[in-house]
Amino acid sequence: MKSALIARFSAEFGRPPACLTRAPGRIEFIGNHTDYNGGTVLGAAIDRSVWVALAPRNDAQWNFASGQKDGVVRLRGPEFVRQSGDASWVNYPLGVLRSLQAFGLNAPTGFDYLALSDLPLGAGLSSSAAIELASALAFTRAAGAEPDRERLVKAARDAENSFVGVPCGILDQGVSGFGRKDHLVFIDCRGPRFETVPLPGDAHFWIFNTHTKHALVDGLYAARHRECMEAARALDVALLVDAPAGALAASADRIPPVAAKRARHIIDEIARVGATVTALRAGDLAAVGRLLTASHRSSQTLFENSTVELDFLVDQLVDAPGVYGARLTGGGFGGAVMSLTSPKFGDTQARTVAAAYERRFGASPDILHLQTADGAEIL
Ligand code: ADP
Ligand code: MG
Repeated sequence: MKSALIARFSAEFGRPPACLTRAPGRIEFIGNHTDYNGGTVLGAAIDRSVWVALAPRNDAQWNFASGQKDGVVRLRGPEFVRQSGDASWVNYPLGVLRSLQAFGLNAPTGFDYLALSDLPLGAGLSSSAAIELASALAFTRAAGAEPDRERLVKAARDAENSFVGVPCGILDQGVSGFGRKDHLVFIDCRGPRFETVPLPGDAHFWIFNTHTKHALVDGLYAARHRECMEAARALDVALLVDAPAGALAASADRIPPVAAKRARHIIDEIARVGATVTALRAGDLAAVGRLLTASHRSSQTLFENSTVELDFLVDQLVDAPGVYGARLTGGGFGGAVMSLTSPKFGDTQARTVAAAYERRFGASPDILHLQTADGAEIL
């Protein structure tokens, strides 16, 4: 990709780039809707990335190109004008530039910029965080700054929240920034605090993206958020992460049944994240797999953010050879299922699962085979 990046940049801008960066996409491994409840989550940085090439300019011209988009978007600094239509992708690097400034980090006054990617966009693998982190590293590097990773991660999230306008948690940018090959990233969302945990053995990820999406997904998200906060209030804590063990059972008569189900999912899920870290440290992938599948069952019955399509895929996967466990990944209400497998699960097994899905639903899911990778880096 490095030579493609240099060749494409030179063809586009008539000179070589001054710096090259890369940042990976991610999968949510376990920790479903735990972020806004102050909980913990585990994510994996994957071996699909966004690469950025950049060269500073002497003027205040901001030129943005992407291998995934047509044309060059030419803006005049230092105005931050939100883009729409075909140019709206530029809001990601533009938002990063603005957030870097807000975080007191230097960037060049003018630049030529190119992004290339082997990550599918909008597939739930967080190409948005990948382009943000790769951009943040490129801008700061080109200005001779060497900010610590945590500041870059926070600036990238700020860009997505405040400029792009997506209220994502810290998982996406945290994993893209702190990822490490053969490791998972553990995030305590309330710090936030970041740690890496070794992923033992020859572990593989297989993702099945259904491309289904509940029509009311935004409203359903908001409803889950509301129900969790309602349960926390009834338990007399600020966030569900603070609920003492046994509190939920002890307060059963004071919490509406639906809010109690949501709280049960969140409290158990935070415990499952902790148990997963323990099982990972013990090298026990079979136990990790059981926790993944238990997470899905809890989504299915308690948090009710699964769908018949996702349930079908999980049911198929847990019976397939080489699968440790499977669960919906991301917010739910459609989207993708992730499975953790040994090398015994391969293309043939994946195609069998996809074929069964197609017989049932008349559409075939996208299949992706992924492994872990290092987080954002300067090349
Ligand atoms: P996801 O993060 O799951 O991939 P999002 O909707 O959050 O989905 O982010 C996808 C958007 O990020 C794209 O529509 C595009 O605007 C932007 N983006 C990501 N990668 C690139 C890229 N390589 N080139 C241009 N835009 C990109
Ligand atoms: Mg995204």
